[in-house]
Amino acid sequence: MKEIKKVEFVKGIRGTDDILVDGVPQVAFIGRSNVGKSSTINAVLSKKDLVKVGKKPGKTTEINFFSINNKSAYLVDLPGYGYAKLPPAEREKLRKLILWYFMYAEVKPHVVVLVLDVKVGFSPIDKDMLKTLLESGHRVLIGVNKIDKLNQKEFGVAIKKIQKDAGEITVIPYSSLTLLGVNILRDTVFGIFLKSVK
Ligand code: GDP
Repeated sequence: MKEIKKVEFVKGIRGTDDILVDGVPQVAFIGRSNVGKSSTINAVLSKKDLVKVGKKPGKTTEINFFSINNKSAYLVDLPGYGYAKLPPAEREKLRKLILWYFMYAEVKPHVVVLVLDVKVGFSPIDKDMLKTLLESGHRVLIGVNKIDKLNQKEFGVAIKKIQKDAGEITVIPYSSLTLLGVNILRDTVFGIFLKSVK
């Protein structure tokens, strides 16, 4: 297992910033509102409330950077997308900020973790996001959260469908609640930046 010893919030940005060009490798997390992206980040970093869970959707309007082990890497928390109840102008603003980071910012993350809810799978808006990420040349990994909500049989059916939609892309199932599978996700996305522990 790989160990994350120290996590610090560095800053939130809404556009071009020095942090994008400081050379620290970035691991980005993106997902539809309410898929459990905040819970995933807390679980991966072994922090209880680093990122507030169950926040009013659409409230995070910045791209937040967290330093892992004294800037061995940044975890980049992007705003959740697709919250239907948000006023259209605000939804559009968030969409533009997300697209800017992936398409125009002067940085390329090491990997982008697209978080899904196992019970929902790929919604049309998730498929759009995946398409955008791949077309922009990003390395993507699909994190499938909330697996504690399904029994083994249901899980088998759901994950098969998700893997089919994901094609060649790696799919990692886990639960932010029970933490089952979270070590695999952590090792896969941050592994090369962290030291091993027994
Ligand atoms: P975000 O909007 O994507 O950041 O989602 P949150 O992390 O705020 O989680 C949304 C809701 O899903 C909250 O009520 C969480 O408690 C719940 N949740 C998140 N991860 C899991 C999980 O793995 N299992 C279950 N059962 N619930 C989860």
